[in-house]
Amino acid sequence: MKESVEQAINDQIQVEFQSAYGYLSMSARFEDLNFKGAAKWMRMQWQEENMHAMKFFDFLIRRGGNPRLQPLTAPEISFNTPLEAFEIALSSERKVTRLIHELYDLAVEKKDYSLRTLLHWFIDEQVEEEESVEEIIQNFKLTGDSGEGLFLVDRELGQRIAEGGEE
Ligand code: MG
Repeated sequence: MKESVEQAINDQIQVEFQSAYGYLSMSARFEDLNFKGAAKWMRMQWQEENMHAMKFFDFLIRRGGNPRLQPLTAPEISFNTPLEAFEIALSSERKVTRLIHELYDLAVEKKDYSLRTLLHWFIDEQVEEEESVEEIIQNFKLTGDSGEGLFLVDRELGQRIAEGGEE
């Protein structure tokens, strides 16, 4: 594998773990705000992001490359309402989407066909990630400040089921 491709995959591993770390911090904040459903949703998202990182990690190993773990930074995420939290999540996912697309551009440029195939999964996954977060944002917007509405949306978030690796 080309060195520049290996480095870019290692950078993406860091991005996915950092994203996981951000979701875990949002989970903790939701526990504090007593939104148990949203806390669970965020914790599951943490697991999903770890799985994304590990997909790249395993891909590197299978290709004879070396995963080199990079430092994570403490998440600085503060919010007071679920709507704010999911808006932060959406902008974070959009950033990840942009980085996945840049990695794809590199795979094309370097003629790395197997990386391109792997990234097709990630490109589809990012469409789903953004779509599901946008839907949650819409639900919280409809709810406004209604306590009953917030309770119902939170309860629905708590019903999220683990994807278990592949869908
Ligand atoms: Mg991800």
